[in-house]
Amino acid sequence: MTKKPFITKQQAEEIIRSFPTPFHIYDEKAIRQNARDLYKAFAWNKGFREYFAVKATPNPSILKILQQEGCGTDCSSMAELEMSRRCGFEFPTIMFSSNDTPAEEFRFAREIGAIINLDDITHIDFLKETCGIPQTISCRFNPGGYFSVSNAIMDNPGDAKYGMTREQIKEAYARLREEGVTCFGLHAFLASNTVSNDYYPTLAGILFSLAVEIKQELGISLSFINLSGGIGVPYTPDKEPNDIFAIGEGVRRKFEEILVPAGLGEVSIYTELGRYMLAPFGHLVTTAIHEKHIHKEYIGVDACAVNLMRPAMYGAYHHITVLGKEDAPADHVYDVTGSLCENNDKFAIDRALPKIDKGDILVIHDTGAHGFAMGYNYNGKLKSAELLLREDGSVTEIRRAETVEDYFATLQGFWDVIG
Ligand SMILES: *Cc1c(COP(=O)(O)O)cnc(C)c1O
Repeated sequence: MTKKPFITKQQAEEIIRSFPTPFHIYDEKAIRQNARDLYKAFAWNKGFREYFAVKATPNPSILKILQQEGCGTDCSSMAELEMSRRCGFEFPTIMFSSNDTPAEEFRFAREIGAIINLDDITHIDFLKETCGIPQTISCRFNPGGYFSVSNAIMDNPGDAKYGMTREQIKEAYARLREEGVTCFGLHAFLASNTVSNDYYPTLAGILFSLAVEIKQELGISLSFINLSGGIGVPYTPDKEPNDIFAIGEGVRRKFEEILVPAGLGEVSIYTELGRYMLAPFGHLVTTAIHEKHIHKEYIGVDACAVNLMRPAMYGAYHHITVLGKEDAPADHVYDVTGSLCENNDKFAIDRALPKIDKGDILVIHDTGAHGFAMGYNYNGKLKSAELLLREDGSVTEIRRAETVEDYFATLQGFWDVIG
């Protein structure tokens, strides 16, 4: 797969006249098409719903687009809950899959009708004391050990802080029934950024079998099973993207094989995808402002790790296209750096790219999820604008860039003294 930007050099130049780099830009048309395909892939399930993981791209303009495509939201903080509420999401289209949850967040989640997804058995009492137990509730499962798909280890749930053990989760359902719950859900998130059509079907197999066990042992029929996030995207150009139709069909087969014979054919399937819904449909657009030739060749750009933390934090690969040089030979090797006083502030290390000149516009790919969202203000660096490329080709600013005044806005005391 070659990675092709969704904007051309000419488009970028025009956008930059109104909105200087760096900025994140999202492709509305592709976001909608991708959401429609997801719904098509799971159309066999009557109650299917995607609850978009707000943390991936917390912008109300994005949430509204997904809402129009039938999605709900998945939140894990006060601000995400409040953003969902202000966008008009309500019961049953807000999921609250939090952990280590403060009392006021449980209270607010109940107030706005978010479905609470309990991370631990001890949270039953905590919730009861805080705001009472709602009629609809979900529990998060952690099977422990390693999670493998076709003998390949994909992740390590045994080392993850989330969810309840098998024994605990059964006890939790029994307790919750005593507390008056009538509508039960089951949730697990066992592997992140999987580029494999087998992740969801394998996870579904585990959760569906547990649902049958719960029915047989406790007489509780679950209403929904939430496969959560984890469907990934190919950040490197050598990987093939997931086939959402194959994934939907794989889950359907497990459903027919495990749930239907057990009399659980009415279960709704939910997902809480973040990365899959947005990552490929966002670019970080930045301008080369310096070149430096010392022990290595460096290109300095006007974005830095506060605009995209994944390379610095995880050593993550993000593909880079130099606009206008799409077809030029990649015969130079560069480190592409930001300006933080941290040597890990590099968008690419030893990357073969076409010759880059000062003023060239670079597209950093797959930044639509966990990109802007992970931003921070280290070194007094400011967060960029977010733009939306509309279906008609126009561009809307959906978040302005931070200013130095924004950075100072929360400081107190000092200014009162010196005026
Ligand atoms: C982060 C998260 C998601 C989304 O994960 P992606 O990898 O972006 O799909 C979904 N659910 C929960 C509970 C999460 O923490």
